[in-house]
Amino acid sequence: MEKIAFNDLGAQYRHLKEEIDKGIADVISGCHFISGPQTEELEKELCDYTGRKFCVSTSNGTDALLMPLMAKGIGRGDAVFVPALTFFATAEVASLLGATPVFCDVEEDTFNMDPKSLEKQVEKVVKEGKLKPKAVIAVDLFGQPAAFPEIEPICKKYGMTLIEDAAQGFGGQINGKKACSFGDFSATSFFPAKALGCYGDGGAVFTDDEEQAALLKSIRVHGKGSFKYENVRVGLNARLDTLQAAILLPKLHAFDKETEHRNWAAKRYADRLQDKFQVPVVHDGYFSSFGYYTLKAESEEQRSKILEGLKTAGVPTMIYYPMPLHLQKVYAPLGYQEGDMPISEKLCKTVFSLPMHGYITEDVIDYICKTLLGLVS
Ligand SMILES: *Cc1c(COP(=O)(O)O)cnc(C)c1O
Repeated sequence: MEKIAFNDLGAQYRHLKEEIDKGIADVISGCHFISGPQTEELEKELCDYTGRKFCVSTSNGTDALLMPLMAKGIGRGDAVFVPALTFFATAEVASLLGATPVFCDVEEDTFNMDPKSLEKQVEKVVKEGKLKPKAVIAVDLFGQPAAFPEIEPICKKYGMTLIEDAAQGFGGQINGKKACSFGDFSATSFFPAKALGCYGDGGAVFTDDEEQAALLKSIRVHGKGSFKYENVRVGLNARLDTLQAAILLPKLHAFDKETEHRNWAAKRYADRLQDKFQVPVVHDGYFSSFGYYTLKAESEEQRSKILEGLKTAGVPTMIYYPMPLHLQKVYAPLGYQEGDMPISEKLCKTVFSLPMHGYITEDVIDYICKTLLGLVS
């Protein structure tokens, strides 16, 4: 068996080499390294792809999450509701602005924010009266959109801004509506390991609101007014490099084909593993871009055994995520206890992700499945 990659960016480059190399060469010869024409072209194509009216490309996915919170003036005394099972950045952006992240548990089958837990947490915050419920950041974990049809009405009811953290969600759908088009704002990441990744850091924010889009563009460049050296608010330096935009364009053109391949791979994994494992569940009407393929072991001990065995057999794995955010050291002052988010806590002890990308072969999947089944039989 050849060396197995968790996410084979080399295979993707070999497929797209000509266009990527040409894109890079064009940027270098054009010398327009910041906010060049490729950046604008990418934003336009991302609007076309997602169905959103406005796209503001950014320096990374974390800034893409931070900027809508800044645009909404969220800060001290505000509650921002986030799932306990996600990458740290989802909660970090609220903390950066002095707001308080309020954690919600997730659904055991989809790994996404549980709307019932969200409603419970919002009611608790309202009842306590210390924080104002201001925003919800729902995450499209592993490629499947969060339960927006249930989350949207809760946000409307309490007048909260809804932000879709689509850092892992790009390419997902609910009833044909694309990820990056849910809520008031959507944020995505082009970190190399994401389903649509560049060759460095990158991201984008989406909205359908023209005024908010203008605000985001001002925040992106130091709170600029009518021109760069007029500053009307405090902002960031959060632009996407032209080089990264040029690299993303051919990758975006290949994205649907790669997503189809990842869905084929997910099905092949499931066909072989479903007798022994709980394979990922995609709800009716939902479509996952399967940026990650995540299974659940029966226990923490079984997971250790599996990961050890896979490593010995040359199969790379990842744990997304080993610790829920409400139990992270940095949030100890918030006073959460073990047992507060039982499903997130259990998942952190049992989940593991297998190699998954747009160029994975039948042989590799079959080898991984055979190895994995051998470890649990
Ligand atoms: C990757 C990721 C981010 C952050 O994106 P960066 O581009 O690394 O800043 C935020 N949220 C989730 C769920 C992610 O997976």
